[in-house]
Amino acid sequence: MNRDELEAFQFKHLKKILNHAYANSEFYRGSFKKAGVSPDDVKTLSDLDKVPTILKEDIRKDQETKPPLGNMTSVPEDDVVYISVSSGSTGIPTASPFTFQDFEDFIDFEARLFYSSGMRKNDRYCHALNMSLFIGGPCVLGAQKIGALSIHAGTIPSERLLRIMTQFQPTVTWTTPSYAWYLGETAEKQGIDVGQDIAIRKIFVAGEPGGSIGATKKRIEQLWNADVYDYYGLSDVFGACAGECEEKAGLHFAEDHMIVEVLDLKTGEPVDENEEGEMVLTTVKKMARPMIRFRTGDLVKYEIDKCACGRTHKRLMGICGRTDDMLIIKGVNVLPSSVEPIIRENKKLSGEYRLVIDRVNHLDVLTVEVEGTDNYKGDPKVLEREVQCDLRSVLGITPKVTVYKDGTLPRETHKAKRIKDNRGDIWKA
Ligand SMILES: [Zn+2]
Repeated sequence: MNRDELEAFQFKHLKKILNHAYANSEFYRGSFKKAGVSPDDVKTLSDLDKVPTILKEDIRKDQETKPPLGNMTSVPEDDVVYISVSSGSTGIPTASPFTFQDFEDFIDFEARLFYSSGMRKNDRYCHALNMSLFIGGPCVLGAQKIGALSIHAGTIPSERLLRIMTQFQPTVTWTTPSYAWYLGETAEKQGIDVGQDIAIRKIFVAGEPGGSIGATKKRIEQLWNADVYDYYGLSDVFGACAGECEEKAGLHFAEDHMIVEVLDLKTGEPVDENEEGEMVLTTVKKMARPMIRFRTGDLVKYEIDKCACGRTHKRLMGICGRTDDMLIIKGVNVLPSSVEPIIRENKKLSGEYRLVIDRVNHLDVLTVEVEGTDNYKGDPKVLEREVQCDLRSVLGITPKVTVYKDGTLPRETHKAKRIKDNRGDIWKA
């Protein structure tokens, strides 16, 4: 579709989804009324800015208000066939519900994104993303929809994954950029000739900014002698919302399923192409839980010119940073403030803590430094394991924990000083 046709298509579906949400979701009806707008006030696509935005925090609160799916959900639970569950920045899991048709749509455009990156039915696809609860899991069905032989590998030990790659010779895989790097080097160390013994020719990456950072991408491509395509997704929206075509000139959004706004942080006005702003997404077809003006917290740039591939869908030109102090560790979003309650509630600890993030063999390592109180006479190793267990349940990743004597850590009043990120500038090359 040319842009005019596409925008007309988006507007038609936007109207439908606004009416649907207003009629069937207590949350949206309430928030629209509070803002003094009704779906009728949206007469053009640009009128969308009259509608209030929502934050991740609103989703969590809404699900707490009306468990388990919340008042944002706009269909009866009987119509929901699938939920993904994200650990969320506060550690409280939030659900992302889909109807049968929502899920069909999701898999359909995953297939389309894969196809645009050059996957074909004669490919063998090895899906190496987390398969448990995570929205990225079912994306593998997009490969099956193309007709590619699909291996649901999930996150398994790298030795086992490499064995699968040498035995079954998949040609395409999907993982995080840092893991692709690590896996390539691990293969080399094990004496596997990546270009010879493994057939991988395309690697999809997501979950970290690396896939759009030129130097990182190039290094992974050299290591694997394969093409790397960056993907972007959000658990509250879809597994992948955007992916690179074979031109590798930015990530095409599935704009027939969502409206992408990029807004100036100060004014809330749309920014121009190649200017930085916060990405705000609106799903126009998702019935179970429409996401209407969801503030992603991602600072991005976009381009809209027709791509050399011929596709007209807007392209995400990489993520430049976050609007909050969210850390991305091993592809998992971690809000440093979620660590604090765990540390403060444990009476064996002084309450002081520091987060140190390093990159070892291209993989992120989070160390949480804490202090035992003078009254604690037990084995520090036992205490370390206890705190590690508590943190793992909140963060969704397993941090290293180091217990120091009371008074060892620097006393800082400013929150940011509690974080020591040794990975350099992870957002830019
Ligand atoms: Zn393209």
